[in-house]
Formats: sequence, structure tokens, C-alpha cells
Amino acid sequence: MHTSFSVRLFLIACTALLHACNTKQPADLIIHHAVIYTCDSAFSIREAMAIKDGRILATGTTAEIQQRYAADSMLDAQGQFIYPGFIDAHCHFTGYATDLWKCNLYGTASWEEVLQRVEDYARTAPTEWIYGRGWDQNDWPVKAFPDKSELDRRFPHRPVLLKRIDGHAVVVNQRALDIAGITAASQIPGGRIELRNGQPTGLLLDAAMDEVEKHIPPPGDSLTKRFLLQTQDSCFRYGLTGVHDCGVSERLLELVEAEQTAGRLQMKIFALLHDSAQYYDRWIRSGPYRKGNLHVGGFKVYADGALGSRGACLSTPYRDAPTQRGFMISGPDHLRMLAQRLSASSLQLCTHAIGDSANRAVLQAYGMVLKGTNDRRWRIEHAQVVHPEDIPLFGRYGIIPSVQPVHATSDMYWAEERLGRERMTGAYAYRSLLAQNGWMPLGTDFPVEDINPLRTFYAAVARRDLSGYPEQGFQPDEGLDRRSALLGMTVWAARAAFEEKEKGSLEPGKAADWVWLDTDLLQANVNQLLKTGIRAVFVDGKAVYRP
Ligand SMILES: [Zn+2]
Repeated sequence: MHTSFSVRLFLIACTALLHACNTKQPADLIIHHAVIYTCDSAFSIREAMAIKDGRILATGTTAEIQQRYAADSMLDAQGQFIYPGFIDAHCHFTGYATDLWKCNLYGTASWEEVLQRVEDYARTAPTEWIYGRGWDQNDWPVKAFPDKSELDRRFPHRPVLLKRIDGHAVVVNQRALDIAGITAASQIPGGRIELRNGQPTGLLLDAAMDEVEKHIPPPGDSLTKRFLLQTQDSCFRYGLTGVHDCGVSERLLELVEAEQTAGRLQMKIFALLHDSAQYYDRWIRSGPYRKGNLHVGGFKVYADGALGSRGACLSTPYRDAPTQRGFMISGPDHLRMLAQRLSASSLQLCTHAIGDSANRAVLQAYGMVLKGTNDRRWRIEHAQVVHPEDIPLFGRYGIIPSVQPVHATSDMYWAEERLGRERMTGAYAYRSLLAQNGWMPLGTDFPVEDINPLRTFYAAVARRDLSGYPEQGFQPDEGLDRRSALLGMTVWAARAAFEEKEKGSLEPGKAADWVWLDTDLLQANVNQLLKTGIRAVFVDGKAVYRP
């Protein structure tokens, strides 16, 4: 549908030219009069590009390309800007899809609004369970965590589970606790059951939350496939042509592959498997899996939880909760065991680490196995709070920090309350982390944050929120230069998945995945960045989005 649409609307057939230029090499499409940021190793800028069979034939000046190639379709970019298709190096593509049947609690301004949305949703919910996602008590006038009392009053007979925006905490009602068999006496390693006066409040963290969630039946295959395609559309409209899906089940991978094989899912997906002992041996034996647009490259492990829910594992107590230090979801023993086993394969190990203690544990576990510089590209996802003394370990062991610049500007209002002034030095320290290996992939963590990769770019360079606050930027010394921000969303993201030879830059032989924007991301005023318009998005030389 999109191809014929693009051909009809803005590609000009030039049969006359073909007749006149028999000696020219045939191409499918020529883009000319553009400013093409190729993102190659010299950061070259070109005017024109010829494409055939979904791949880039050549780039050059408009005159050079038109002299050497003849194409059925010509696209005049009108002096505007072409970039490699954006790649989100840390998101939850399938998670976003399977969230689409849940009650949307993103952007709620109070607990009262959450309850209202849940009541509306409950009337048409597809299952007995009332399943919501996206609340954030930091956005409310009362910043205390919610409890189950109102949920028990309004839903005495139906189980309710409402997940926090970061995916690391839920509030559930008594019915849900009963189904999961959770009481005040339950002990769940890697999780926490919040108690008040000796009784569960309904707030559960991490592994405790999983104990309830596993009782919720997943949506059926056909519904899930529909949601995958909806998610793809939501990504294409922001210029994303590739995603790193951080933590996927084998069942969802099968559905992804089926939709890709059927030609409906064109999104390029690099997937990291959920950490599960069930299939370590099988995957370690077979190694990375590549077929078409699916690449399964390693395991995603959780070292700790998140800062917002105080599940991030800190080396000293939370400043605003002096009895708490957070906790490890996977302790050092598990990390070392997995690192050891994966060292025998070419799979990547990608571990979520937020707190300084968790980051140290992962760096040490990786370091014990990697020993020195290497090209395994094992990653630490988020690398959010790192003790300044530990930052050099990323360079020493060639460990790749995989960071999400919007997290800095989402958390900046309250991060210091949690961490204390001193610990802010190594928090959201993206420039220091980039310096370690000289390259670094960037992502959004959607649905935790918005899908839009231009927000990543803006947050990385401006270190401001959408309203422009703070004017000088949050810890501006740790912002990224624009070139690095663009590379982090393109070729460095590809590199973090061992895919830099096939995508991420616009060079001959690589996939013709590109976006056409009306704004020069390298030159425009910082306030213009978020007003950028998307003119077209192409995957393998075919238009997948055109507003
Ligand atoms: Zn994530």
C-alpha cells in the first residue's frame, strides 16, 4: 500500500531519461538535491543517492549520481535532510504491543484519575482481570505510593493489577493477592511486598509483582499480531526503522517471525531473550539467530529495579528513605554464572543496571570473564547511576553502556532526592560514558518513555524537558554533541547489535533504510528540534510512512 502511494505521490517516472541514457546503470530510485547525513566513518554529507533492490548503490553529488545512474523513480528532496533510519537501541517493542489491551494510565495527574480510568476500562475489559499500565506517583500532587484500599472497595471480586510507568512496581487489590497466594508472611527473593501495620498495602516490587502477573492470561495470537502491526505503525511515523527489543519471550518471537515472513511486519528487530534457565543450553549451543528482519542476539538480564520505585540497588541508603538501599533482582552469583556460560558462545549479555551498586556488580561480573579489551559488545542497559571510580571499567573491559537520554530529563526533578547531591556526579553521565569506548548506542525504553527518537536527540543535546526547563540544561556537562547523538541513534545502535555492516549508515551495499526530515538536526536551533516534521520513512528502499 505504501509503495504505490509513494510512487503515485512524489516519485516521478522518467521514461524519457531512460531512453537517452542507455549506458547508465539502472537503479530503482534516485534521491537528489538533498542534504544526506550518511553517518559513515568520516561523517560525510552527500547530495544524492541511488538505490536498487532495497540497497544503496552509491552516494555523491546530484550531478555524479544522475550521470551514472538512471532510475524509474526520482525523488527531489528540495534541499531537505536525509538520515539513516533511526534505530532504538533499548525499547520494548513487543511489550508495547502486548500493553495495547491494558488500561492506559500514562499521564494521569492523580490517583483519583487512575481510579476513574480504571472504572471506565473495567466496563469493556477483554478479560476478568483489570490490567493497567503507566502510572507515576511522581507526577501527582500526593507523591506517596498508592495502596489497595480504594481498589478493594471498588473491585471486591475482580482482580486488579496496575503497573507503574517503569514496569518495576505494581499496585494490586486483595483479590489479586489471594489469587497469587501472597500474604504478609510471603518471602519472594528479588522482590518486595510493601507492608503497613503488618499487612500488605498492595504495592509489590519486581519479583513479587511477577508472582501476580503470571496469573494474567496473555491476549490471543491474532490480537497480539494486530497489536504488533499497530506498534510498527507507531514507530514508523517517528522515523524508527529498527528496534532492539530488550527482553522477549520465545512465544512472542514466533509471532514476530510469522508476521515478518508474511510481509506484514517490516520493522527490523534485534531481540534479546528474557533471562530464563529453561533455554540457556539450547541458545548457547545454537548462538545468534538471523532470519530476514529478525536477529536474536543475546540475553537481557535484570540486575536491579528502578530508581522511581526505589528498587534500584544503591551502595548506601536512599537519601529520602534511610532504611532502604533497593535490591538486586539477579545477584552477583547469577551474573557471574551467566557471564561464564555465555562466554562460550557469541551471544551478547545485556544487563539492566540502574543503581551504583548494581552497576558495580555487573561491571565486575563482566570483567571477570572478559578480562580486558575485547569485541564481545556486552552491554549494560541504562548504566544510570555509576560510581565515578567505576566508569573507567567500561573502557577497560570494552563494556557498552546503552543509555536513554530522556530518562535524565524525566528523572531530573527528583533524582537528587533519591540519590543525594554527591551521587549525582556519576548519574546520567552520558558524555563520560561515551568517552569510554568512543561510541555508545541510544534508546528510549518505550513504553517507559515516548517512542519519538527526536526526543532522545533533544534530551541528549539540550538536557531539557519539553517545556525547555532548565534553561542551562540538567548537568549540561554530561550532554552529548549533536554528531554523537545522531550516531547513537543510527550506526552506533546498529553496532551495539553487530549489525553495522548492513545498516545504520547510508553507504553503498547497506540497506536503504532512511528518513527524510524537514530539519537539519546538526544545525537547527535547539528549540526547533522537537518541531521537526517527518517527510517520509523508507525501509529497504520502500516507503513505509509518508504523512
Ligand atoms: Zn527497558
